[in-house]
Amino acid sequence: MPHVVTQSCCSDGSCVYACPVNCIHPSPDEPGFATAEMLYIDPLACVDCGACVSACPVGAISPDTKLTDNQLPFIELNAAFYPKREGRIPPTSKLAPVIEAPRIEPRKGPLTVAIVGSGPAAMYAADELLTQRGVRVNMFEKLPTPYGLVRAGVAPDHQSTKRVTKLFDRMAEQNGLTLYLNVEVGKHISHADLLEHHHAVLYAVGAPNDRRLDIEGMNLPGTGTATEVVAWFNGHPDFTDLAVDLSGERVVIIGNGNVALDVARILTSDPDQLARTDIADHALRALRSSRVQEVVIAARRGPQFSAFTLPELIGLTTTCDVVLDAADHQQVIVDLAGVTDPLTRNKLEILAKLGDASAPITRPRIRLAYNVTPHRVLGDQRVTGIEFTGSGAGVLEAGMVLTSIGYRGKAIADLPFDERAGVVPNDGGRVVDSPGTYVAGWIKRGPTGFIGSNKSCAAETVHRLVEDYNRGRLGDPDHRPAALDKLVRGRQPAVVDAAGWRAIDAAEIARGGGVRPRGKFTQVPDMLAAAATAPRPPLGKRLLAGLRH
Ligand code: NAP
Repeated sequence: MPHVVTQSCCSDGSCVYACPVNCIHPSPDEPGFATAEMLYIDPLACVDCGACVSACPVGAISPDTKLTDNQLPFIELNAAFYPKREGRIPPTSKLAPVIEAPRIEPRKGPLTVAIVGSGPAAMYAADELLTQRGVRVNMFEKLPTPYGLVRAGVAPDHQSTKRVTKLFDRMAEQNGLTLYLNVEVGKHISHADLLEHHHAVLYAVGAPNDRRLDIEGMNLPGTGTATEVVAWFNGHPDFTDLAVDLSGERVVIIGNGNVALDVARILTSDPDQLARTDIADHALRALRSSRVQEVVIAARRGPQFSAFTLPELIGLTTTCDVVLDAADHQQVIVDLAGVTDPLTRNKLEILAKLGDASAPITRPRIRLAYNVTPHRVLGDQRVTGIEFTGSGAGVLEAGMVLTSIGYRGKAIADLPFDERAGVVPNDGGRVVDSPGTYVAGWIKRGPTGFIGSNKSCAAETVHRLVEDYNRGRLGDPDHRPAALDKLVRGRQPAVVDAAGWRAIDAAEIARGGGVRPRGKFTQVPDMLAAAATAPRPPLGKRLLAGLRH
């Protein structure tokens, strides 16, 4: 009865260190870790102690007897990562080597770091810093709610993945961390201000823009990007008014990464199922009156180059109606004959078993299309279709055309920027030619990987930062800590602190009425009104906090 890692694996590696027999791989010290699509439990070595279950922040691990029918393929997927062997593997005492936390050499005052952003990379960086005594982290987030793409990017039907916020809540409660939510760096406070008040500034701002497809017609009403739609159905306040017109029968999504799969799944899901998630109310209303019958996910290359990951493909095909055209079925067979990489073969074998697109549509479905290069979007007043070149050349009628060709980093004021790669140029997280400035997450390495990939990425950056601090390369702040609080509140009186976030969180959970995980606020004023109900700490505590500053 071994344990099994399933679809929502976030790859943060916590399970690896919890395992007493080192049976979860690749581990963070192994070469394949950075590129692995998930982690795998060796069924012949697992001793079934369940330690990994408690360590996993997203509930991705279960004993094989407790899997749902949809999760059964993961038994084989875990086993297939390991060579074929006979019998049980004797328990090993050689545990995965733990990557040591950076040792901060004590000085008179604390090491103070500003972290910009509050998504996974920011949270993991703060946590890594706060493993040491005498560290203070001030975290700045432009929205009144924290956690970045976990709140606004993970699809609402992936609630298990969103469970990582419980871990982030615990991180945010640590002594030494101060949250400044609803404060925008570059607007309310500048990079120079932050440098004056801290030893170092660490940007973990992600990649907020989309890569754009420069073809004729991409500006017509009815075109857009998948990432905007993700932000819309997740209730991001900047996207509540996005025009998402679901009156046509077909939507075409260009690009076949995991974001495309997320959008296709939500657009074809039963709204009654979605009503049990934290999807934004406006999106649920629009989906209830949607006329969409087919979402085509169009890839410019063949099936063997599919950008989606295997766990997500398994999740998609076990929950949705997914079909292929006859020509694409043929291509899958051809690819299978030539491909040896086990992961790609696994994907192709799943694709080979999909239904045929010529079957009548009985419920909203997803069609994976291959070898179609977008040439131009058709339409006069609004989108009516799209023309493709490539071996699958032709025209597809569509009411909406979305690109899903990757996120893109945005330049940060006063920092260098690599326009081609869309990242801040850095050496292991140390920003080039910018003393005291660091980056972690997508703005450091580009928009790839999973939530947990940010843990090792942030740890690398923090190691560099601490090394610089220990070597005396970081100047002491010019001001006492209390001065920062005064400055921020002076520039943005509507700052939301940790108590304010707890109040927003509690109010959203209450709005869920026990039926949904939460009813999200999607307008900033509503969030601020909820934050204002936070109980103020007693006067004595406030005075003490002031003295500590
Ligand atoms: P992605 O995985 O990089 O996929 C981009 C897609 O766009 C590819 O199919 C690519 O095709 C295509 N593309 C790029 N340029 C194009 C062009 N000019 N014309 C046509 N097609 C083009 O990007 P993503 O889906 O935005 O995902 C970003 C990251 O987030 C990934 O690491 C992903 O795994 C992760 N993510 C994970 C989850 C999850 O685990 N559930 C969910 C969402 C996102 P080519 O391969 O031919 O270039």
